[in-house]
Parts: sequence; C-alpha cells; structure tokens
Amino acid sequence: SLTDKLGSALRNLRGVGRLTEANMADALKEVRTALLAADVHFKVARDFIDRVQSACIGQDVLKSVTPGQQIVKIIHDELSALLGEGTTALSDHRPLRLMMVGLHGSGKTTSTAKLGRLLKKRGYSPLLVACDIYRPAAIDQLEILAAQEGLGFYADRHSRDVSAIGKAALDAAKAGNHDALLFDTAGRLQIDTDLIEEIKLLRTRIQPDEVLLVADGALGQEAVNVARAFHDAVSLTGLILTKLDGDARGGAALSIKAITGVPIKFAGTGEKTDAFEPFHPDRLASRILGMGDVVSLVERAQETIDQKEAERMAEKLRKADFDLDDFLAQMQQLKKMGPMQGLLKMIPGMSGVALPDNADKQMSRTEAIIQSMTRQERQKPQILNGSRRQRIANGAGVKIVEVNQLLKQFQQMQKMMRMMKGGGSRKMMRQMQQ
Ligand code: GDP
Repeated sequence: SLTDKLGSALRNLRGVGRLTEANMADALKEVRTALLAADVHFKVARDFIDRVQSACIGQDVLKSVTPGQQIVKIIHDELSALLGEGTTALSDHRPLRLMMVGLHGSGKTTSTAKLGRLLKKRGYSPLLVACDIYRPAAIDQLEILAAQEGLGFYADRHSRDVSAIGKAALDAAKAGNHDALLFDTAGRLQIDTDLIEEIKLLRTRIQPDEVLLVADGALGQEAVNVARAFHDAVSLTGLILTKLDGDARGGAALSIKAITGVPIKFAGTGEKTDAFEPFHPDRLASRILGMGDVVSLVERAQETIDQKEAERMAEKLRKADFDLDDFLAQMQQLKKMGPMQGLLKMIPGMSGVALPDNADKQMSRTEAIIQSMTRQERQKPQILNGSRRQRIANGAGVKIVEVNQLLKQFQQMQKMMRMMKGGGSRKMMRQMQQ
C-alpha cells in the first residue's frame, strides 16, 4: 500500500527541517505510483504531483510530526481540494429538472430513486420519469423504487420517442404538482452515437437545470473516456459516484473530476436507497491514498501538542534538567492524542506493529506512580529511599518493583541526557520529537 511505500521513501527524510524538491523526490515518486495503481489517469497524476510539489516546497516541518507525515497531509489536502472543487449543492430552481445519464450498470436507476428520496426529504415533491425505452425491466425497476419511496412516477411504455416522453412528463408534473423531475435516461454498455443523439435531443426538449453523470466508482481508466464523451454531448453539471462502499480505490473519480472539471455532487454507498449522501472529498482522498489515518494524526498533533510547551521541554532536555514532573507532562500530552495502538496505526509503516495489549494501562500505572510522589520527590528522585518507595507503591496501588523499575528507567534516561549534553543533544531532541 501507499502507506508502507511512503514509509520507506520518507525514512530518508527524517530530521529534515524544510521540504525541498530534492528531499521530496522519492516520496513523490511513490505517490505517483500509488495514484496510477488506484487507476488515476497518468496526466492527472502528473498534474497532481506538480501541484503537491509546489504546495510542499519551502514549508517548514512542524516540530511535532515527521516530514513524512506532513507531506502525506499536504498530499491529502491537495487531493481533497481537487476532488472537492465546485459545489455539491443542486440548482435551487423550481420546478427542478434533473437529467440522469450514464452507462448501463453504473447505478443510474438506483441513484435516480436515491436522489428522489433525498429531495423528498428536502421538501420537494419528486416525479421519477422513465426514459429508457429499450429496457422494459429498467422501467419496472424505477416504478418499484418510486412506489417504495412514495415518489411520483411517469412512464409511457408504448412510446419510442424519448423527447416526446420528456415533454409529456413535464405536463404530467405540472398536473400532479410535482416540483422536481428526475429523468432516468437509457444506458448502454458503451457510448454509441444513437445514445448520444437521443440524450442530446432530450436535453434540448426538457431544458434540465442539472445533467448528472452517474459513474461507477470502481470503473477503471475507461471512465475518463466515458465521462468526456457525455460531457461533450450534454454538458454535465455534476457527477454522482456510485459503489463507494466496495473496495475500489476510487482513482477513476479523480480522473473524471480533473478531466471534466465538473463537481462531484453525491456519493452512492450501498444498494439501499438511503445509502446516498452529499460527496465528502476528504473521505475519498484518504481512500485513494490508502494511507490509514495519517491525516487525522497530523491534525490531532496540530491541535493537541502545544508548541510552546514542546519548546520548553526541548530547552529542559538541552540543559539535562528533566525531572519526573516533566516526564509526567510529556506522557499526559501523548495520552491526549488517544490510545497508543490507535496512534501507531496512523503512522506510515507502523500499522503492522503491535503494542502489548496493556500499553495504555502501563502508561496509566506510570502516571499513578508519579502522581503519588511529592513535589520534592519528583524533582529529586534520588531521595526516594525504601520507605518512600513503599508509600508511593501503596498510593498508586502497584507493587514496589514497579516503582523501582520506573525509577531505573528514569535514571537511565537522565544519564543519557547528561551524556548527550553538548554535542549530540540537538540530534537526540529531534528524535524524541519524532
Ligand atoms: P443502471 O443500469 O445504471 O440503471 O444501474 P442500476 O441502478 O440498475 O444498478 C446496477 C447495480 O448496481 C444494481 O444491482 C444496484 O443495486 C447496484 N448499485 C447501485 N448503486 C450502488 C451503490 O452505491 N453501492 C452498491 N454496492 N451497489 C449499487
């Protein structure tokens, strides 16, 4: 997965303070490969990488995250921005006329019913119009869905003239007080000129406020040609991505979006009619990158780690006067970010690493031990004799050996810090912050 590959590409970046073209080259190459693997069109991938590169260059790396994590965040934000360009809102024209187009099997009929349901919830009285004259089964399917959702339905099973059906539906809507019309047009396995002519004619006749292309999110590279052909023929105003509940990476969505420039308005996330929602670019971006939750890790780090506090700590480390109080404070900062195993999962290359089941519990015990000490004891652990240690163990509800262990660890840390004082301290601090 991209996560693991980025992990190795970014290892070289550790300790880099500022992102430059040279130090990012490997990471960006991995991202490009991952995009191609997720079925993103190569031109789109190339443009995207350029975009990320210019957003990265010259950025200072936040102290509390690694450069790698920061790059992933930038990539994700750029990807979200690209996917989310334009509005997900529909035209507010009433009566609202929506024309649904797309290939056979894309989920067009299902999405027509889903959108009808959503509009009903928003206070419209929708009329679903069956315009697929070639497949009686498609008409039946739409009729069943309309009945199920309590939506109006119009069809003319004998007509062979799609634009006449469209016109008659407009009249029927007026008569039935429907203020939203959803035209479910015919699909084909492939784009052909007959289909294109037919939907062009229908478009002219019904003058829709929106022309929505329904595209299967799992479709590969050919999705781009399909989208372009529909866009050229009927000027799309929006995209509906379906089947985002499957395990497809959704890279085609990025290509379609980039090549048509048309906003993605809705996402279908299941077979049922309620599995439909306004499009969330950030979710799809995470999925295309397949990178777990690095982004939320960086966001959480930005939120929870107090930069001033981090600098104060760094200063203490530099002077090697780090006491148990500081140790406690550091631990509490870490805890604020969430359970340890969860945090680890978010880090590229670390998702497979298992912490002992009791890592969080361990941390709480350590915390309890330090909290059972007096202020003086925390600052000068060397005064902790046997009876003090016993008192602390009782207070924290642990065995005395645990207190001893903690103190031993802490002594080792102090020793290391004294050794590092001077020459190597800078390097060590960086490591501690990463
Ligand atoms: P059409 O030929 O484009 O009208 O496609 P349909 O609406 O008949 O859908 C084709 C198949 O895809 C059906 O089995 C639908 O239940 C299924 N489908 C549609 N949208 C989704 C979706 O968002 N998720 C999943 N899992 N299946 C969907």
